[in-house]
Amino acid sequence: MVVEILAVGTELLLGNIANTNAQYLSRRCAALGFSVYHHTVVGDNEKRMTEAIKQALGRSDIVILTGGLGPTEDDMTKEVCAKVMGFSLEEDARTRKRISAYFKASRRKDITKNNWKQAVVPVGAKVLDNNNGTAPGLILERDGKTAILLPGPPGELEPLFSEQAEPYLRTLRPETIYSKMVKVCGIGESRAETMILDLIDSQTNPTIATYAKTGEVHLRVTAMASDEEQAKSLVKPVVKELKKRFGVNIYSTREEEELEDAVVKLLKKYGLTVTTAESMTGGMLAGRLVNVAGASECFREGFVTYSNKAKRKLLDVSKSTLKKYGAVSSQTAREMAKGGVFATGADACIAVTGFAGPEDSKEEPKGLVYVSCYLGDEVFVEECHFTGNRMKIRQQAVVRALDLLRRCILEQYHEK
Ligand code: ATP
Repeated sequence: MVVEILAVGTELLLGNIANTNAQYLSRRCAALGFSVYHHTVVGDNEKRMTEAIKQALGRSDIVILTGGLGPTEDDMTKEVCAKVMGFSLEEDARTRKRISAYFKASRRKDITKNNWKQAVVPVGAKVLDNNNGTAPGLILERDGKTAILLPGPPGELEPLFSEQAEPYLRTLRPETIYSKMVKVCGIGESRAETMILDLIDSQTNPTIATYAKTGEVHLRVTAMASDEEQAKSLVKPVVKELKKRFGVNIYSTREEEELEDAVVKLLKKYGLTVTTAESMTGGMLAGRLVNVAGASECFREGFVTYSNKAKRKLLDVSKSTLKKYGAVSSQTAREMAKGGVFATGADACIAVTGFAGPEDSKEEPKGLVYVSCYLGDEVFVEECHFTGNRMKIRQQAVVRALDLLRRCILEQYHEK
């Protein structure tokens, strides 16, 4: 079944806001097993909106429209969609009551006549109660086609979709869909794909899709079957095969688990504490660790030592090392990691030093980064060459540093 996303709003066309609703809806629909072939954006213009809705309903089974459900004159999605699909409009008493209660609860007294416009719905439409705003969501079905209308603000659209539109969409699919995510670090997307090309080419159910993330590759294995058990049993052997091929490069098979979650989990498992010694990442590495709730159990303090002076003062990097090899060198990275452990008494330290650009410097090419990890009286250093802009290089450095710590723990605790 084909779903199309039709976002309404001149603000989107002018570039004032990004179409994050389309991204959200597409991701959710793909996970439900629908095919999404088109995203369309149209302004608040009746003629062009009419054309866009007709075209979308002509080529897709389900059209999800977002935006233009507000109380003002230029909000016309509901009116235009109802006209195209041949629905008349009528005030819905239940929605009027809900809007009234919503205003009361939010202590707003500025309810105006045009607010009641939002209580008017196409006759025969399913009304989805919006608990976070006034405009209801709507489902219109006619001649085998469906239009789902959702309000534009993401804070209204997302709960409305997951609580009410998604259960409805599930009823339209005869099969159950089940997917599992395999998260890989330390291997580029093309190499990862090459390693499993035979699997990708030979599988239709389940399918394997690869997604490149900064410093990571995510592989989604998706199966369709008549029930969840069957779908799971199709996914299981493929995930097992991926684990065999990617081995230690896999840091998680859980959708919601980020790299820092996996690292903190390992630190906690072995009762280890870690500190950070950062130069060009300026605290981003510490920030990623602190993303994890409960990280304080294993992360207490970190260093941002951007200048040579700070590296010497806080991490005891020797003057001669800095002079002889420079701040961006494996020797400096090694001393930073060691210095972090000695300064704090943590069990481990991850250090990053590099050159993020934007231009190549006289001494170092842009993207040259050293990450280092001190753990169990051993220091590991990795030389990396990243591409991209300054921010991208810094983000990749953070991922590589977290991953180095993860690998060092696995290695030392024989989890490989
Ligand atoms: P309201 O009742 O608030 O007027 P609406 O359904 O009429 O809601 P719009 O007026 O089109 O929606 O947009 C309201 C706000 O919702 C926008 O200013 C923007 O912040 C957000 N928004 C709208 N469309 C999108 C979109 N496609 N992606 C992300 N945000 C959006």
